[in-house]
Amino acid sequence: MTDQDTIGDMHWVVVEGIYLPKRVGGHPALDFCNTYAGWRERSNPRGEWLRSYEVVARFAGYVELLEETDVRRLCRAALRDPEGAAAVLVATRRFRTRVHSAVGEPSDARLLGPVTRLAQRAAGEARLRPGPDGAARWEIPRSTGLEMPLLVLALSAAEMLTSPEVRLVKSCPGSECGWMFIDSRGRRRWCSMSACGNRAKVRAFSERQRART
Ligand SMILES: [Zn+2]
Repeated sequence: MTDQDTIGDMHWVVVEGIYLPKRVGGHPALDFCNTYAGWRERSNPRGEWLRSYEVVARFAGYVELLEETDVRRLCRAALRDPEGAAAVLVATRRFRTRVHSAVGEPSDARLLGPVTRLAQRAAGEARLRPGPDGAARWEIPRSTGLEMPLLVLALSAAEMLTSPEVRLVKSCPGSECGWMFIDSRGRRRWCSMSACGNRAKVRAFSERQRART
């Protein structure tokens, strides 16, 4: 269950007691990149949202790449295999950095290369299955075990990178942010006005006040 409404204009949501970044990207692969904040800063430990395997599985469910039943099943499986789950967590964070670089510069073959291997593996596992809207869709089978969330994210990243929309992706200039989003109308600057936009306005206001005194 998503507690989004009660939290109002914050930049996170709470799903089953887990804090997740609000979907502002316009595509699950961009929301995946946005599970880290502070892309421009050298390091920002506070900006890491993917703190456990459970968060990775929950996140994949939240962005509608995994069914709720699979999320629950994977969270239980992670408890039985903590080492395997920790390895997937590390691999997911590493893959996120690669996706972030490639989305930022999709015409650079050197940046696409590191995304290819996992995307290729995901494509090799994917099956065409009937989707809920009457159309078929690519699905990663349960037999992929704990890697299932990482593989669905890899498929989604390949889809984003090959979509014409990748040319419309911008990243938020807010400090400790850098969240990515599709700017279809070419007018958006911030990930969300309520998070970074307002913060920047408040900062500019207090700087003006200081300059006056
Ligand atoms: Zn921002």
